[in-house]
Amino acid sequence: MNHKKSQAAFETAKVRIPGGVNSPVRAFKSVGCDPIFIASAKGSTITDIDGNSYIDYVGSWGPMILGHCHPKVVEAIQSAAAQGASYGAPTELETQLAERVCDAYPNIEMVRMVSSGTEATMSAIRLARGYTGRDKILKFDGCYHGHADSLLVNAGSGAATFGVPSSPGVPEDFAKHTLTATYNDMDEVRRLVMQNKGEVAAIILEPIAGNMGCVPPLPGFLQKLRQLCDDEEIVLIVDEVMTGFRVAYGGAQERFDIRGDLVCLGKIIGGGLPVGAFGGKREIMEKLSPEGGVYQAGTLSGNPLAMSAGIATLDLLKEDGFYDQIEEKSAYLEKGLSQVTGASKIPTCWQRVGGMFCTYFQEGPVTSFADAKRSDLDRFGLFFRRMLDEGINLAPSQFEAGFMSIAHTKENLDKTIAAVDKVLKTLD
Ligand SMILES: *Cc1c(COP(=O)(O)O)cnc(C)c1O
Repeated sequence: MNHKKSQAAFETAKVRIPGGVNSPVRAFKSVGCDPIFIASAKGSTITDIDGNSYIDYVGSWGPMILGHCHPKVVEAIQSAAAQGASYGAPTELETQLAERVCDAYPNIEMVRMVSSGTEATMSAIRLARGYTGRDKILKFDGCYHGHADSLLVNAGSGAATFGVPSSPGVPEDFAKHTLTATYNDMDEVRRLVMQNKGEVAAIILEPIAGNMGCVPPLPGFLQKLRQLCDDEEIVLIVDEVMTGFRVAYGGAQERFDIRGDLVCLGKIIGGGLPVGAFGGKREIMEKLSPEGGVYQAGTLSGNPLAMSAGIATLDLLKEDGFYDQIEEKSAYLEKGLSQVTGASKIPTCWQRVGGMFCTYFQEGPVTSFADAKRSDLDRFGLFFRRMLDEGINLAPSQFEAGFMSIAHTKENLDKTIAAVDKVLKTLD
């Protein structure tokens, strides 16, 4: 497969864009090759500027659950654009999308639109702090909630205590308000909360951790967190930026029957345009400006193009049997891959919830970030590059999820299974 034009484009981009990309993981650094530059995409297929086509399991990192360029979404964006791209004044479209979101998530009584998942989580944290009058938050190691300062924090080594910034530029003074715990480790959460009794404003988590591969919550974990938050009057923030409208119309909260006090959304609700949202209990949301004192704003928030794409997308997702089809396709892929990986000597572990999944290069099971990090990353890099050569576009990191779309055909899935079979044999 020839990537000459992509390589040239990358060299040119690096002159003016740090690392040549506008979001780090796109640079393919952890898989040891240069990124492909994209020309177009349609349905389940993405095409690079050298003319190579790939079956796409990245789906813009989650939003494209309908596949690329769904005609109804394209039409919605085009007709909105013809009415004006942005007004900086309210439109009925914003209420229409808000109503759909509240309809899908019964615990969201009110919702505010923003332009990215990062903004959603950052604002939800501020709101939780404003509402409780407390400063500390608790997050989980390996959960990603965007790149706001207080969320870019890892656990220190050993027992998690106060956070250590995971990026230069994040002041320790900020990080010290962030406690980090091991995903799925309820004892550790309880210990941290008790050590900081009356000081924790919020616990934020991915209800299925998709930024360390695909790590489902252990049975009872979410329910116990919910109970602890109730007992200690802590705001539970469920970050469904990835899982919302992905693993069910009502997200992971519907699937696992648990309700956050605040919920963050993004990705799918923008239908491929830049959108985020956070919402929840009326009592908390009313603290937001201009009703309350917690400040939050955005020039392009509720943008009519993005709202139109989101509305068109959600209406298609709501059609009967949509998620059954996503489940069926994902289960078909799972079955085929498990035959192939079962026959291979290479240790792999497949984890999936609905249309999000990951193959770890290790025995597994993976229940935490520490587990995920035990994967054979060199082998994953080689696997990734060879899969690309076979025409399969996977997320360029062992710590990212793959995504199924409704546009993936049985032929696509069979081709993927055959490619994995072939590539695994070259890795022996
Ligand atoms: C992608 C993601 C975010 C950040 O969203 P952006 O739109 O990239 O800012 C936050 N939380 C989770 C769980 C995500 O997957």
